[in-house]
Amino acid sequence: MMDRRQLLGAVAAAVSSRVVSSSAWAKPASEWGGTVLDIHLHPRRDQGGEFNHINGSGVSKAVLLTRAETAEHARDVVAKNPGRFAWFSGADVTKPGAIEVLRKNLAAGAIGLGELKSHAACDGPEMSAVYRLAAEMSVPVLIHFADFPQFEGERTWNSGIIRFPGVVKANPKTTFIGHGDAFWANTSNDVPETPYPTGKIKPGGASDRMLSEFPNFYGDMSANSGRNFLDRDPDFAAKFLERHKAKLMFGCDCNCRDGHGAGQGSQQPLIAGKCVARETLTALKRLTSQATFRRITLDNGTKLLKLGS
Ligand SMILES: [Zn+2]
Ligand SMILES: [Zn+2]
Repeated sequence: MMDRRQLLGAVAAAVSSRVVSSSAWAKPASEWGGTVLDIHLHPRRDQGGEFNHINGSGVSKAVLLTRAETAEHARDVVAKNPGRFAWFSGADVTKPGAIEVLRKNLAAGAIGLGELKSHAACDGPEMSAVYRLAAEMSVPVLIHFADFPQFEGERTWNSGIIRFPGVVKANPKTTFIGHGDAFWANTSNDVPETPYPTGKIKPGGASDRMLSEFPNFYGDMSANSGRNFLDRDPDFAAKFLERHKAKLMFGCDCNCRDGHGAGQGSQQPLIAGKCVARETLTALKRLTSQATFRRITLDNGTKLLKLGS
């Protein structure tokens, strides 16, 4: 049995350990000069993996993008960590019943659709059904666009972004969020047949035009594709970020374990062995004003996804 002095000592130790752990929480959140929202994180297999990533990378809140198999897990993470996570539901639109899966997950608390990543045309009937559902339910749809393989034998994902301005125009009640190789490659009007083009950007690309012309079209900065865009033509990138400061949202799409690059298996030189969240946030800091950085890393996503601050 503890005597009174031992008991008080134990209480003081518990209190001080709580103080230590809460300051450890506060530290990563301010590392980037304010609260950061990551709109593109995928659920982890290991217990607490999502938390390890946001804490390690200095991110305060994240949107978990699920597949049919991971929706239940994401729901659980959101329920156990109020205010730190929200979730989107994806589904493979080439499989029967995809729309029913999306509809069911929206009813279960998903606040958006995504990421949509299937071997389908971005303007085909399967994806058009998703755009109609997004409009009906007033939720955004986040789309992975890719026209050229990242490795030999890889197929396209939501192919045909060059035709997408017509889709956005025809669906004014749907809120679209563009992401992925082809979204970033098409910031240029000159698009070589490679997933991650380098070198100077030729103005007038389809993605740039959609962000300028359509109030219902937004951009997600995540993944090597977003990081590559920031690197390939920094002068263009700085102006692009300023021009679209109300439309772009930070996301990482990083698969590292600890928010410091552990287990990041990509061979792509800009992110190999690194945390994509850290690399992209560092590049954004370099290329934007403090006000624009805040909009892209917090305000735009908070407003669009109605997350509250
Ligand atoms: Zn993706
Ligand atoms: Zn990471």
